Amino acid sequence: MERLTDKPAARGVLDRYRDRLPVTNETPMLSLGEGGTPLVSSRRLIERIGCKDLYFKLEMCNPTSSFKDRGMVVAVAKAAEADARAVLCASTGNTSASAAAYAARSGLDAFVLVPHGRVAKGKLAQAVAHGARIFAIRGNFDDALAIARRVSEKHPIALVNSVNPHRIEGQKTAAFEIVDDLGDAPDLLFIPVGNAGNITAYWRGFVEYFQAERASQKPRLIGWQAAGAAPIVRGEPLDDPQTVATAIRIGNPASWEAAVAARDESGGEISAVTDEEILAAYRLLAEEEGIFCEPASAACVAGLLKYAARPEALEGPESLRDQTIVCVITGHGLKDPETALAIEAEVPEVDADLAAVESAMGLA
Ligand SMILES: *Cc1c(COP(=O)(O)O)cnc(C)c1O
Repeated sequence: MERLTDKPAARGVLDRYRDRLPVTNETPMLSLGEGGTPLVSSRRLIERIGCKDLYFKLEMCNPTSSFKDRGMVVAVAKAAEADARAVLCASTGNTSASAAAYAARSGLDAFVLVPHGRVAKGKLAQAVAHGARIFAIRGNFDDALAIARRVSEKHPIALVNSVNPHRIEGQKTAAFEIVDDLGDAPDLLFIPVGNAGNITAYWRGFVEYFQAERASQKPRLIGWQAAGAAPIVRGEPLDDPQTVATAIRIGNPASWEAAVAARDESGGEISAVTDEEILAAYRLLAEEEGIFCEPASAACVAGLLKYAARPEALEGPESLRDQTIVCVITGHGLKDPETALAIEAEVPEVDADLAAVESAMGLA
């Protein structure tokens, strides 16, 4: 009998891209159906931006509702292949949710170090549900990552943060999918930047497809950090990064150099948006496009709005008029319900009565 995982849509990235990933005959074909996420066109935002085409790559549609699954499936499969008994990560939330799910799927233990009091509730709920052993470190993400690295050096536990090269390999598959869906690479890719693994991975994917002649061009990568957590923009690490976008609240990105190389080789840039701009874009995306993402994801849309307002984006050779743009929507809004409800939590109570409801709805 054919099993569910044998169906094309549910094959996952290890199987679908096995010849472009570090897959051997011994690698377990782990999958929760990650990858193959929708590339959805903009209906309303595009009018404000004034570009030729605008798409959202909905990475929130992965099994644990963030792009982290693409890299995690590779990292956990390789850990299982190497006979590791446990995986370990430091996490602002999504990495731990993904590590916990794929570890559960493979029968490995998962250890998670989160910065104390700074992880969105939905993400913590995911790690708890999958049975991960979670420790809240009295420090920030960067402290937690430094300790995780030391633990994995001393003990036979696989570190599955994006310093694990298999993570970046898996994450590059999103760039392949964009090229396959569009028939070529876009002109510009807008992406949030935290630990900077994802921008690194996209660049690798686009370069690989270009070299394999699957694409005629490579996009310019336009990365966005939060203003209170913008070490790459400022050119120096930060001790106490602050932003509502907890997934990019990182003061010393692990993939800093690779991200700067991706920025420069692509002719792109990495800039910053404020929390106000992030929350405005977060609402806009939900209200005008029907896409409910988490604040970190909205950073790239905030960045697009800012970019499109520059004089050179309106007129001249750099004008957006002929450009095809993709925004990477990295994670789901339900992961951070507190931010969502802080914006507008006013739900009036009404009697269970037709006339009362009609009156409340303004129909009476
Ligand atoms: C991890 C994450 C990011 C940042 O990606 P990096 O690879 O750390 O730069 C952005 N958004 C979401 C939702 C994330 O989970």
